[in-house]
Amino acid sequence: MGMPLPQVVAVAEHSPAERFGVWPGDELRSMNGQVPRDVIEYQLLADEPIVDLEVVRGGVELEVTVVKQAGEPLGLEISAAIFDRVRTCDNHCEFCFIYQLPKGMRRSLYLKDDDYRLSFLYGNFTTLTRFTEADLERVLDQHLSPLYVSIHATDPEVRSRMLRNRRGATSLRWLRCLLDHGIEVHGQVVVCPGLNDGAELHGTLAGVLDRFPELVTVAVVPLGVSRYSKEPAMRPHTIDEARQTVATVHEWQQRFVRAVGRRVVWASDEYYLLAGVPLPEAEAYEGFPQHENGVGMVRAFEQAFETALSPSAGNGGAPGRPGFFAWVEGAPAEGYRAPRTSEVRFSVTPPRTSRDRPITVLTAGYGELVLRPLLERCGFEQVRILPVRNDFFGGNIAVAGLITGPDLSRTLAGEPPGCRYLLPDVCLSKGRFIDGSTPGELPVAVEIVPSDGASLRRLLEAGR
Ligand code: SF4
Repeated sequence: MGMPLPQVVAVAEHSPAERFGVWPGDELRSMNGQVPRDVIEYQLLADEPIVDLEVVRGGVELEVTVVKQAGEPLGLEISAAIFDRVRTCDNHCEFCFIYQLPKGMRRSLYLKDDDYRLSFLYGNFTTLTRFTEADLERVLDQHLSPLYVSIHATDPEVRSRMLRNRRGATSLRWLRCLLDHGIEVHGQVVVCPGLNDGAELHGTLAGVLDRFPELVTVAVVPLGVSRYSKEPAMRPHTIDEARQTVATVHEWQQRFVRAVGRRVVWASDEYYLLAGVPLPEAEAYEGFPQHENGVGMVRAFEQAFETALSPSAGNGGAPGRPGFFAWVEGAPAEGYRAPRTSEVRFSVTPPRTSRDRPITVLTAGYGELVLRPLLERCGFEQVRILPVRNDFFGGNIAVAGLITGPDLSRTLAGEPPGCRYLLPDVCLSKGRFIDGSTPGELPVAVEIVPSDGASLRRLLEAGR
């Protein structure tokens, strides 16, 4: 059986596609005689001024020709980003979060993708162990940049041991090729105590400086361990190990600044919170290039919260993408990292009647560590913070992006219904928590708020 065809899920009003008679529900077979393999190729073909579409409508094949300006969007929303098969990974990393998910969750969550297209489209990290010459050609032809590559270790033996794949030893040669051809690449090192920390981490960062100095950034993140991990060697960092990792990263930042004029490497926020070490100032994140992966999120959030009310501040210098402690290694929200905005978004200005009600902000353990001093500093001592302990995953999981419905229900049970409960939207994808439940199933009503600091600030100000 062939692959299912990508489907048109929506047609924009007054768009060329609507004018020329493309309908929602149409299946897309080809464009100008070519079969696009993904939205990247779709986009390139859709840019043409004349697009001959071969569609299947109710089982019947039709041809629709759309005439428009070159570069003008067709106005179609397509059901998937990848039309052929998502390339899955052939690694078996001990620290992989997908192996640490409980059974019975929705299938898309167990998809181990290692596809450079998802890296380009969503910022998913690829190990390049399945990368081929043809892929390289395509990346260069279509200039698919930036890409995101999991490095973990530059020592071939350590890397192949970590990925449990002998190709892990050699696949970084593709990284060299990408950099040679001017592709921008962001790297990631997931640090596992006893495997690639300590001297090994020093060696990896020396390897980056020596062999891959063009890397735009390298995020150093700690592994997450859920209670479902079956890997006896995988354990959370101790406080001391977290401190050492932060110190190693700071040491290498200085070396990188001297050698290439940029810091290049950053430790994720979680390391600082775990180590009890103050986070670097916002400027030290050089524009927050790895914000989405939990590097600089705290400072960006604080900055946006503190400057939200100043009209000249814009978004306070924080990156455009929202996110509040959402970093998750290997467990993206919808199989591959889905847009994080929730469809059940509430208005940022609450209805008048709700303004007098006391506010409680729901967040995870790390969120509480950051929010409490921030709210006190900005005069919101009366706002209550209710931390949600993560029993669903257990282990060292304390990020807001992995808050689940059952944990929220337990936390909210017995809470008075007259209060307002604010919940950051990062824990929802398409209106569902990662366990598949919805906010409507919670024992009290919650208000879903965008996860950037500015929105929270405006809501709290309006409720004063
Ligand atoms: S962590 Fe990533 S590369 Fe490793 S097994 Fe999981 S999905 Fe594959």
